Amino acid sequence: MASVCVVGAGVVGLTTATLLQEALPDTASVTLIADKFKKDTTSDGAAGIFRPGLQFQGSSAQVTRQWLRDSYGYFHDISTSEEASTAGVKPISGFILSSKNPSITRNPLLEPLVPEYRMCTDQELQLFDYKYGCYFTTLMTECRRFLPYLTDQFSSRGGRVIERHLESLEQLAGHFDVVCNCTGYGARDLCADLSVTPIRGQVFKVRAPWIKNFMYEDYDTYIVPGFDYVTLGGTRQFDSHSLEIDKYDSMAIWDRCVRLVPSLKDAEVIQEWVGWRPYRPVVRVEKEVMAFDSGKTLKVVHNYGHGGYGVMASPGTSMHAVRLVQEMLDVPRAKL
Ligand SMILES: Cc1cc2nc3c(=O)[nH]c(=O)nc-3n(C[C@H](O)[C@H](O)[C@H](O)COP(=O)(O)OP(=O)(O)OC[C@H]3O[C@@H](n4cnc5c(N)ncnc54)[C@H](O)[C@@H]3O)c2cc1C
Repeated sequence: MASVCVVGAGVVGLTTATLLQEALPDTASVTLIADKFKKDTTSDGAAGIFRPGLQFQGSSAQVTRQWLRDSYGYFHDISTSEEASTAGVKPISGFILSSKNPSITRNPLLEPLVPEYRMCTDQELQLFDYKYGCYFTTLMTECRRFLPYLTDQFSSRGGRVIERHLESLEQLAGHFDVVCNCTGYGARDLCADLSVTPIRGQVFKVRAPWIKNFMYEDYDTYIVPGFDYVTLGGTRQFDSHSLEIDKYDSMAIWDRCVRLVPSLKDAEVIQEWVGWRPYRPVVRVEKEVMAFDSGKTLKVVHNYGHGGYGVMASPGTSMHAVRLVQEMLDVPRAKL
């Protein structure tokens, strides 16, 4: 029996770990190692909407589209299953609006995937008082449900979980046949990969059950209703290393969201939250045989750098990572 280790218990690590169990039920045991779990991960605070930004990139346009197709299919299957609510996955419709930027109305990465994508009607634009806009139906995944769902699935299939901080991936050499590196921003240190950069995001989580549709204004102002709360955002501050709540960001986010949907002024604030989107110009999904000064080597499959799109894209990049693990273990590829 081969032994595979997944480092990282965010959405990318947990998706990879459960897909590995599905693909290698009789050929590998899977261990998950991380220093943070559930509410302490970046994944926990994400709005979780399936809306790829046009800067989301794999190693080629074809790879990117494959990841997105696989991811949408994965979440679509959950959303139509009995487990949808437990897993925190549901369809959602809404608007992206702008007064200045007509290009926000098109999204060639998303349009082929979703069941409905159209320009706003004149009546809708008049109602909201914007010049440009589009309306579509997509999926959203609330990680506060999805991470526990995946964790339960992983444990019930015999997966082993270890809480541990790694100073180096070398610590795993000699213990596992292959390691999947799903450490998000942590990969900057573990792989000395300086192209991983935080994009700081601050949000409110509020109770406002009357909000049923998502609303974006020029991307930076957004209102995304989940199962248990609505996420109000946000900020996208490149290379900003603060994890403190910034009171000026709070005021600006609140003001912009209430201007977009005035009834939000009555929403009860549950939490304010800050996280770093682990941005890398090209999301890294690839094999590497790491060689250390000690003479030790380690087979690694990287799966990190998803930026602002790690929830929605995790199944597609993780299926890719699983195929690379199968290649490194030299076992036949099971169909996922
Ligand atoms: C405000 C905001 C809104 C967002 N909205 C969306 C959205 O609507 N849709 C979307 O798809 N995405 C969204 N994102 C992006 C999404 O949150 C990230 O892309 C995703 O969470 C990255 O997941 P991850 O598993 O790679 O990283 P993380 O969730 O950060 O997990 C990393 C894991 O690696 C472990 N780790 C790291 N280093 C080490 C180490 N040295 N030793 C041991 N363990 C280690 C950590 O403990 C953790 O378990 C948003 C992000 C923010 C900040």
